[in-house]
Amino acid sequence: MTDCIFCRIARGEIPAKEVAHTGSAVAFHDLNPQAPVHVLVIPVTHMENAAATDSEEGARLISEVLRLSVQVARQLGLEGAGYRLVMNVGKNGGQSVGHLHVHLLGGRPMTWPPG
Ligand code: 5GP
Ligand code: ZN
Repeated sequence: MTDCIFCRIARGEIPAKEVAHTGSAVAFHDLNPQAPVHVLVIPVTHMENAAATDSEEGARLISEVLRLSVQVARQLGLEGAGYRLVMNVGKNGGQSVGHLHVHLLGGRPMTWPPG
């Protein structure tokens, strides 16, 4: 998707504070952080959200994204204290950008239930 904001970040057309990348996933700091560490991890290939990953290719992509998420959490020193991984799906899920992403949140205790 040429005009998708996260596709454009993945292609380097929009600047982002990149933390890590693999051939198939990119991690970068959220523009509006909700915790001391708030990183977004996305697949390079456009997929709308987790609900769109129910296929062989989708399962491969989402697992690459989760793998990079845990690697970045370790890289940023969050593993000992713990952290939260969140995927918002659709309107009621609170998704505002229609390109699959995992929120990696850490650096403070999280509460439950989320808002
Ligand atoms: P969602 O609400 O879809 O789960 O999360 C979208 C996230 O993307 C939000 O936390 C928002 O702050 C972040 N975001 C939106 N636009 C940009 C951008 O251009 N750059 C970065 N780094 N983050 C963005
Ligand atoms: Zn996209």
